Amino acid sequence: MSGAELVLRDVVGAWPDSQAFLFEGGPLADALREAGLTIRLAAPGADLSGLRRDVSPLHALPVLGRLARLAWDLAGAARGCDVVYANSQKAFLLAALPTRLVGRPLVWHLHDILDGAHFGRAQRIIQARLANACAVRVVVPSRAAAEAFVQAGGRRDRVTVVPNGLDLTLDPRPAAELRAELGLPVGPLVGVFSRLAPWKGQDVVIEALAAVPGLRCVVVGSALFGEDAYAATLRDLAAARGVSDRVLFLGQRSDVPRLMQAVDAVVHPSVDPEPFGRTLVEAMLAGVPVVATDAGASSEILDGGALGTLVPPRRPDRIAAALSEILDRPEAFAERTRLARERALARYGAARMQDDLAALIHQVAARA
Ligand code: UDP
Repeated sequence: MSGAELVLRDVVGAWPDSQAFLFEGGPLADALREAGLTIRLAAPGADLSGLRRDVSPLHALPVLGRLARLAWDLAGAARGCDVVYANSQKAFLLAALPTRLVGRPLVWHLHDILDGAHFGRAQRIIQARLANACAVRVVVPSRAAAEAFVQAGGRRDRVTVVPNGLDLTLDPRPAAELRAELGLPVGPLVGVFSRLAPWKGQDVVIEALAAVPGLRCVVVGSALFGEDAYAATLRDLAAARGVSDRVLFLGQRSDVPRLMQAVDAVVHPSVDPEPFGRTLVEAMLAGVPVVATDAGASSEILDGGALGTLVPPRRPDRIAAALSEILDRPEAFAERTRLARERALARYGAARMQDDLAALIHQVAARA
């Protein structure tokens, strides 16, 4: 599941009587069913794989017929609900008109950052205008994402910031024992935990490794949205820099928190602004030192750098320096890491997120 899907899974724990309309089956459908929701799947054949955020209008034409069918289904599903909650851009764009047609209020949980690094100008404007016209509330996970929405033309008075929240159960065993169980090497070891995509910046960490002799790195995650070519270039890059034996590609994992607890530091190297970054909060909760690029929400989450080292994007030298410092003097970072965990527990728990969203949805329902 993507980060936005994991957020939805955690959010709906508090909505057992709801209905989920999904475009396809899979792990998300299973998770929502397990949470007690009634699942309604789009009609078979409503394959939206041609609809990516970067698709040109011309290439989207063949899917228009299927879109019309979907819109019809969505309108039917929305009619039976008090509030419709769209958890992705695709969901919002597809639900905007059908929900309007049947007169149901639409809340858009915008998990992306609507800025120039991620979207073309026309896409930003269309999304912001459609939100102004069709969404009664737009939920974003950070001030950075709120600002980007407003800059794109979205109405400030429609936006509510609800930071993502998650719970993590710590494994009580020491890192060395976890490493042995996970088959990870002894010695200096850091980790990157994100789907593989150019803007997530795994390549920058591989470059950084070349500057820190003896340091190994686990690269956890896979290409979830078709970025397979990038995934392949990471291996080539590691070979070209002579660090192949120090980069361990672990693929997609379901035990990220335990892996985080087993490493000496977590690097969050995104080269473009992050709308939030669940992995940052997971690292804080895991009690591991964090090095993150100062783009998007990282600074909000890490309290301006007080709770983790912030470095400029695309600067392997700065990542290398930050990691060397942490590895050379781990005791100097212990207090910061403890405070980071405290802050994550206080601000980024799942219950707080559920409560905030439940309150918002009840408010919307009451006004409808
Ligand atoms: N994740 C995972 N397995 C992996 C890689 C990542 O479960 O192999 C999880 C990670 O722990 C985090 C989420 O995927 O909870 C990614 O969320 P984030 O907000 O960091 O990034 P997004 O992918 O939404 O841009």
